Amino acid sequence: MEGKLISTRDKNKKEISYTDALLEGLAPDGGLYVPTEYPQISIQELEGMKKMSYPELAFEIKKKLVGNTIPNNDLKTLLKNAYAEPKFNSQNSNTVPVKKIEKDLFMQNLSLGPTAAFKDMALQELGQEMNYELNKRNEKLIILGATSGDTGSSAEAAVKGLKNITLFMLSPKIGMSNFQKAQMGSLSGENIFNISVNGRFDDCQDLVKGLKKDPEFSKLGAVNSINWGRISSQIPYFFSGYLQVIKNVGDEIDFVVPTGNFGNVLSGYIAKKMGLPIRKLIIATNENNVLDKLIKTGIYKITPSQITSSPSMDISKASNYERLLFDLVDRNTETVIKYVEKFRKDGKVDFKDFGISLDTFKQNGFYSDSSTHQDRINTIKQLYKETGKIIDPHSADALTIAKKYKTNDGIPMVCMETALPVKFEDTIKEALSFIPEREKRFIGIEKSISSNNFYEISINENDLKAYIRKNI
Ligand SMILES: *Cc1c(COP(=O)(O)O)cnc(C)c1O
Repeated sequence: MEGKLISTRDKNKKEISYTDALLEGLAPDGGLYVPTEYPQISIQELEGMKKMSYPELAFEIKKKLVGNTIPNNDLKTLLKNAYAEPKFNSQNSNTVPVKKIEKDLFMQNLSLGPTAAFKDMALQELGQEMNYELNKRNEKLIILGATSGDTGSSAEAAVKGLKNITLFMLSPKIGMSNFQKAQMGSLSGENIFNISVNGRFDDCQDLVKGLKKDPEFSKLGAVNSINWGRISSQIPYFFSGYLQVIKNVGDEIDFVVPTGNFGNVLSGYIAKKMGLPIRKLIIATNENNVLDKLIKTGIYKITPSQITSSPSMDISKASNYERLLFDLVDRNTETVIKYVEKFRKDGKVDFKDFGISLDTFKQNGFYSDSSTHQDRINTIKQLYKETGKIIDPHSADALTIAKKYKTNDGIPMVCMETALPVKFEDTIKEALSFIPEREKRFIGIEKSISSNNFYEISINENDLKAYIRKNI
């Protein structure tokens, strides 16, 4: 039923509503919420969306995912507020504009939001929906999040000043760019607490998962892409990208998605399940290529993450592929639980042992590859030389891989542009030997970095618990 969800690990398949899942984040059994079924969008409906603004189009998709848990008129207003200008720096009123790079190759810009990363697309809407629902229930929510760089500032910009929400955000001490640190630091205060962890992103994510297991903290909300609200708000832009590119509704398309936690590309998969004619979903990873290896070998093996020039993808334990796994094992919860236990014990799993053959990925549209630092540098350089356009290293990862996959079969390919280059100037300078002029809103933002804006902890659950208790 529309607006109903189940956990990937619940044998009883207990259904909960969209809004409950929104506030809960992770399911109590440690699983992820997925819709009981994927609502369908017909070709006629797609045709009708062609001339819609982004908030209007997003409404048509989201209303089917939300069901009646948020009344239609309220949902419409929330979406309008989430993507309003000038918060979104839309181009000719297009929130997610697609630009042509060469014949049949395009980039879709998802980073025109307030913090210049694609995460704004989902988090602005998530903040609106959470606050709306908390108001209605007369409740407050404490959120604990972990960021590899972009989620932090994006979530903070989305909930800053909202009366019903307090946000604690963990970030790794090393790996983020100064710009990312400054963006977060400048948002500390009021209902926002930034915590710097002496470790990597995976350590931050483990701390969050650890606290969720403690009954005292089990009610903490989530802004990471484990939250179904986030995945569902990322689905509409695949529809928009499609409609901006294809000649006739019904034609096929390929997407290339820079991937870390398997959130964005999972949203593409769900768009496909809902009826969008996507042929290939190409997963683009950096040197942290566990997902690339999974698609190519069927084996998922944890390897320590390394810091790269596309830091928002430096993840070695991707949360969201459990939602795909659930479908691939025909939604058999017991198999998912067995898988999770095996993975916990060995740090390595072979999908074949769970009845999933290597072909299954391709049958569902999944392809993959990875790029190196030098690939990204070369791609940034080459694109600038050929077109004058400057892209960030995450988008360069996607473009590198798009060029490897592109054939002249006439099917358009769209790369997701997930951040603006201003966030990663060191890498841009390495590629182009100059730093492009900043938009006014970003000039001098590093001046606001101060150690006072971050509370520092080691990788220690008790220190984190003590800090949260003290501040709520
Ligand atoms: C978060 C992020 C990604 C990875 O997205 P996932 O949904 O976690 O796979 C890619 N690029 C940028 C710029 C990001 O911020």
